[in-house]
Amino acid sequence: MTSSHHDLLHIHSIEKVTLEFTTRCNLKCVYCAVTRPWHRKNDLDLASFDVLVEEMKALGVRTVQISGGGETTIVRDWDRYLKKLLDGGFRVSIISNLAKPMTDQAIRALSLCGEITTSIDSVDPELYEAIRKGGSFETFATNIRRIRGLCEQEGRKPPYMIWNAVASDRIISLVDQWVAKGISLGIDHFQISEFFQYDELPGAISIHPVGTMSGEDLARARRAVERARWLAKDAGKWFAVLPAVEEALHGSRKVMRTEVELDCGGEGKPVFKKSRTFVQIVNSDGSRQEVPTPPPSPMLPGKKTKNCFMPWTEAFVWATNDVAPCCMYKRIRPFDGGDLAAALNSQPFVEIREGLLSGNLSHTCNLCPMFEQVDVEEFRQRVAERMGVPSAKA
Ligand code: SF4
Ligand code: SF4
Repeated sequence: MTSSHHDLLHIHSIEKVTLEFTTRCNLKCVYCAVTRPWHRKNDLDLASFDVLVEEMKALGVRTVQISGGGETTIVRDWDRYLKKLLDGGFRVSIISNLAKPMTDQAIRALSLCGEITTSIDSVDPELYEAIRKGGSFETFATNIRRIRGLCEQEGRKPPYMIWNAVASDRIISLVDQWVAKGISLGIDHFQISEFFQYDELPGAISIHPVGTMSGEDLARARRAVERARWLAKDAGKWFAVLPAVEEALHGSRKVMRTEVELDCGGEGKPVFKKSRTFVQIVNSDGSRQEVPTPPPSPMLPGKKTKNCFMPWTEAFVWATNDVAPCCMYKRIRPFDGGDLAAALNSQPFVEIREGLLSGNLSHTCNLCPMFEQVDVEEFRQRVAERMGVPSAKA
């Protein structure tokens, strides 16, 4: 390794920080891991929040994404923290269920965000409330109207609003109504995402992935999706169906299943040990068989790497009070809220960068499906260009 390669291992600025305030939630959506009793409850330590804001400014962060692994709006004074980020000059995007009645101050803070993403599976109030237990469609819609109303009143551009629905047999044939209602509420972007099926939640409505639906029901669902697509296009809105959902709509009979292994030793309730997600094919009699997963293709050390800049451009601060370079890493470096720059240049981060620059990838990067492979030499040049380092030969 020459000194120029070495120059790429440490960073002095990043573009984006994802902040996870909590892993708790006020809703119990039937398909969501957060609702399961084994799901770990964590809260970001906010005692050093002001220091963190200053650190992010010093690092030149432009965008802060408030993540939706839990529900930020249940954190005490969440809107005050959001306001601090907005006042800090960051472009803030937030993922929220918008399920709580909001104060004027909270609506104002939300109205100043650049983007709001929210899960909403149905605009039928009864179905909404059955799938998203604890929520009320009216409260949700009122929050959206208030956010947009305030922007209109003040002559400001409203946040870009994204609706996400989890594809299931209960909602997929109603997506045209869902898009029509969203357009009337001013939503900009609609997406249908994949259902990762856990064990059923006792006492909750039973919902199933699209891959389990009959041919007749699938035909009805496809017509609804086409109408939804047309409605969105006609209104100049974005409409996207994730490829796996599209394939299921066209009869792939595939479902994504997640099995969780719990540690039942000791006292108290079982705790999460590990999970496994795999594809199943649904047979015509309703039985299922697992599709064997091909072993991950071995990388070629020193020749190929992943075309991923995230360890140079982003940081994830988790509610566990850990900091990581991407969502694939959860616990690589504890973080107490101070000296983000030091955390991002600590040994575990440097090792991940070194792995990407050399092709000797960490196990996690090796298995990561988010980025395609690229030649090591080409990748080094791209990182060097991005960092403004003139030459970065091995
Ligand atoms: S609102 Fe989001 S995080 Fe909360 S239970 Fe529903 S899907 Fe999960
Ligand atoms: S795990 Fe994936 S996203 Fe994360 S740093 Fe490695 S290649 Fe990039």
